[in-house]
Parts: sequence; structure tokens; C-alpha cells
Amino acid sequence: MTDILATPLSIVSKDEDYIRWKESKDGKFIIKTSYSLLLKSECADIYQSSTVSWKLMWKIRAPFKYRMLMWNCVHEILPVAASLSQYIDTIYAQCSRCSSAPETHLHLFRDCWESSILWSYIFKRVKNAKEVHLNSFFRLDWTGWINYNLSLSMDWKVVFIVAIWHIWKARNREVFDLKMIKPFSVYNTFYVNYMDTNTIMQAKAAGNWLQKSPTWKPPAAWFIDGSWKERDEA
Ligand SMILES: [Zn+2]
Repeated sequence: MTDILATPLSIVSKDEDYIRWKESKDGKFIIKTSYSLLLKSECADIYQSSTVSWKLMWKIRAPFKYRMLMWNCVHEILPVAASLSQYIDTIYAQCSRCSSAPETHLHLFRDCWESSILWSYIFKRVKNAKEVHLNSFFRLDWTGWINYNLSLSMDWKVVFIVAIWHIWKARNREVFDLKMIKPFSVYNTFYVNYMDTNTIMQAKAAGNWLQKSPTWKPPAAWFIDGSWKERDEA
């Protein structure tokens, strides 16, 4: 510091002091560099809040099966091809759906073309998706991606967790049953489940779930029609 202060300033330079943009080499401001700077700071915030987000995962208003799958995702312990290939020689790491990249958790749930199309449907059609910053959503790494989505509103967390479940379900049907499922079909089943989940969880939160849920009552008298089988077989 003393050395810096002791350095004499040039009295022959005609250049005046000016403000430099430190993110670019020539000091000139470029929007692209500000965008990446914003993303870097946003990512840093997300990582700092990661522990809280993971704890909040269990409070998402969704049935247990969705939260259980998300718990497996958070810990990256689902049997994806990239993980299995490390232990089993006969399994290839490549994604069997698109063959364009190793099937990691991030590839399967976000980057595989079928998954990315599903997310694009969600961003276009689901009202609660408007709060999502698309640049973060499609550029974060796996941990950042999970934490980012779990740091948003409860409405989005429900969308996210139900979508994850449907992507996993569709992937398994394609890999094990060799059934190709169009992304729009996945979106339709996702949307029905998402709306059902909202209805059920809102009723539970309002405290009238038990009163409104249907209860089974035995019929007044049992009647067995022995002819049904013969009619079916005729
Ligand atoms: Zn793929």
C-alpha cells in the first residue's frame, strides 16, 4: 500500500480518469457480461441458503411419494445410468432416451430433450411458473438447480416436485417397458396430478379434508348375481 501511494502520478499523460467495467477485458460495458455477473451472484445466494431449502423440502404440500422421490434426487441416489455404469460393466452411462449425453440426474430431469420440452410446456401453460428465472433454471448445476427450485414459493415447489415425479415415471416406462411417451402426454398427466394435489392439500390445510373425504358404507343388503360370468363369456 505504501509503495502504491509512493508511486508518482504521470504529469505528461493527457488521458483523464474514467470508469472501467471490470468484467470485460477492455473495460467497456457489455450487457452479456453483466448477465453472467448477475447469474454468479444469484448462484452464490442459492448455495448459501441450500441447507434451509433442503429442510423445507419435507414441508412441501404434496403427497409423500413426491417428497420421497425428491429426497432421493436431493441425495443423487436414484439408479441413473451414469451412476450404475460405475459399478456394473454391462451398463452404459449414455442416456438411453436420447443417446446424446450420460444419463446423470441433471440430464434426466432437465436437459434430456423430452424433459426440457415438458419444462417448456410448464413455463408456457402453468400460471405459477412465471416466478422462475429461466436463465438460472436452465444453467445451474444439479445442486444449484435443486436448491433454486426449493427456494421459490410453495406454489412452484408443488409444480416442481410433481413434474419431477412424472419425468421419472415416464423415463422408467421408456427404459423398462420400451414405451415411447410423448412429452405432451406426460404434461397432461402431470397437470391432472398437479391440480389434484393442489385441491387435496388446500382442503387439508383448510381443515375440512376429513369431513369431505368420501367414506365407504356397506350396502343395505348383499346381492350376488350369479349369472354375470356367463353373460361375459357369451
Ligand atoms: Zn437424454
